[in-house]
Amino acid sequence: MDKHNAWKSFAWESRIAYFSMEIGLSGQIPTYSGGLGVLAGDTIKSAADLKVPMVAVTLLHRKGYFRQQIDSDGWQHEYPVQWNPERLLELLPVKTLVTIEGRDVKIQPWLYRVKSPAGGVVPVIFLDTDIPGNTEADRRLTDTLYGGDSEYRLKQEIVLGIGGARMLAALNFTVRKYHMNEGHAALLTLELLNNIRAPIENTLNERASWDVQQVMDRCVFTTHTPVAAGHDKFPWPVVEKILPEIVPFALLRDLIGKDSLNMTILALKLSRYVNGVAKKHGEISQSMFPGFEIHAITNGIHPFTWASPFFVQLYDRHLPGWAFEPELLVRVDTISDEDFWDAHQGAKAFLTLFIEETTGKKFDPEILTIGFARRYATYKRADLIFSDLQRLVDIGNGKLQLVFAGKSHPHDAPGKELIHRIHEGIHSLSGKIEVVFLQNYNMDVAYRLIPGVDLWLNTPKRPLEASGTSGMKAALNGVPNFSILDGWWIEGHIEDVTGWAIGPPPREKSLAENGSDQEDARDLYDKLEKKIIPRYYEDRAGWIRVMKNAVSKNAYYFNTHVMMRRYVTEAYIR
Ligand SMILES: *Cc1c(COP(=O)(O)O)cnc(C)c1O
Repeated sequence: MDKHNAWKSFAWESRIAYFSMEIGLSGQIPTYSGGLGVLAGDTIKSAADLKVPMVAVTLLHRKGYFRQQIDSDGWQHEYPVQWNPERLLELLPVKTLVTIEGRDVKIQPWLYRVKSPAGGVVPVIFLDTDIPGNTEADRRLTDTLYGGDSEYRLKQEIVLGIGGARMLAALNFTVRKYHMNEGHAALLTLELLNNIRAPIENTLNERASWDVQQVMDRCVFTTHTPVAAGHDKFPWPVVEKILPEIVPFALLRDLIGKDSLNMTILALKLSRYVNGVAKKHGEISQSMFPGFEIHAITNGIHPFTWASPFFVQLYDRHLPGWAFEPELLVRVDTISDEDFWDAHQGAKAFLTLFIEETTGKKFDPEILTIGFARRYATYKRADLIFSDLQRLVDIGNGKLQLVFAGKSHPHDAPGKELIHRIHEGIHSLSGKIEVVFLQNYNMDVAYRLIPGVDLWLNTPKRPLEASGTSGMKAALNGVPNFSILDGWWIEGHIEDVTGWAIGPPPREKSLAENGSDQEDARDLYDKLEKKIIPRYYEDRAGWIRVMKNAVSKNAYYFNTHVMMRRYVTEAYIR
């Protein structure tokens, strides 16, 4: 087969089409912002490892999310990320069209192949509207992830949902299920409704010709956040101006509701299988959307991607096959404490070097180092550990080091305030507790940061952390979690065994918050002082036991291989 037709070999078997506004495959392809995109990338990699027939669809995002720089006063500034799709992806000789605001917009596909060493391949299609013939504004539609206003977002969602479904057809893919990773792709359901429409002459009632049941049978929807702002809503007048009427607007309004076009409701209404991303998040989603049956499949991480080179070597030596069968990590106790600790100190030295290169600060590899990195949205409460600086110094002077990282969305002023406050804290603690903030958090920074700390901190406001996958990356590298009982940690936490909880246990099936900031901060300090610091410095064997438990009781289960098998048996083959 010649090179230009090689992609046609994907068409022979029917596939799960996985749609996601962001996909994080590597630091080289900056088409993701955070957890949602990295999860999508990890999902695709596990599908390739397990030879699950899948094709993924996303947007090209030529300008990426953004590159973060922090100025000397601790304020975030954003710059476009430049990357070359031409270097990494293959432009396919096919085009499709969508109608936006009454104009035809051409879309072209770029192909990237996710190849597993086990032989599986998952094609990823990146949609691109930067084509001569499109208006200048339309050419910019696939530039910036989560940039622009709400109209820009709706247009991007038309390209992703309707354009993506048409592109798969143009490329001759046979699709057995459409999996919407979050509501951004929900407009694909309209294209399906339009495609499998019953002939009108067979029915007296025009509405009856739209076969909702058949579309439902083909759709799976994963909802990702209990934060209201995370669910896209578009006012009907905007929708009627921009969206092509491939399904009558009146029918849509009947189906979705009169207030606005809510993408989550659209996806819920047209999917047979719906799930949240951790047990607790499934319950929360169920109470947010009564009347739908919402299941739960807990997120995971791709083991080989997130193991530091030191742990890859260690596991290869002692647990061969672990990367394709992460269940083998259950036998981590067959590794000696010495070898395990050496691998950890290797990862720590790798981080220490990175800190020195990027900030000029020298970290001490013998001091207990705490890591915190995530999006700086206010509910994540990055500054909780700074709520009583005097207490932190009393507990940690000479015994603690802290590493922070994370971006705030360019329009999120309170998030930026939070980054600023962290930098003020760094300043106040100077000379007492060494703290650094690593700029431009992305997959490459995460890869060095997470395995290199001794303890992974997470302090979200309950119950707003849907899952929280960075804690799983920590566990895989023998780094215990110290976190609020929310998201996946409710399922992974065993006190003093796999790590430590902060604050009270979760409430049953409740959206209400429990635990105040003060109460949580007090518990955080108490546990650091009475349990964690003494265990680290005075009971090294006991500390290593917790590290190993993080692997054998958390990492063996919270990975995308286990997760993918569940999607196959519970959602895809039904
Ligand atoms: C894993 C990862 C995330 C997700 O982390 P959370 O624990 O969900 O906050 C975000 N950003 C990057 C770069 C990651 O690697």
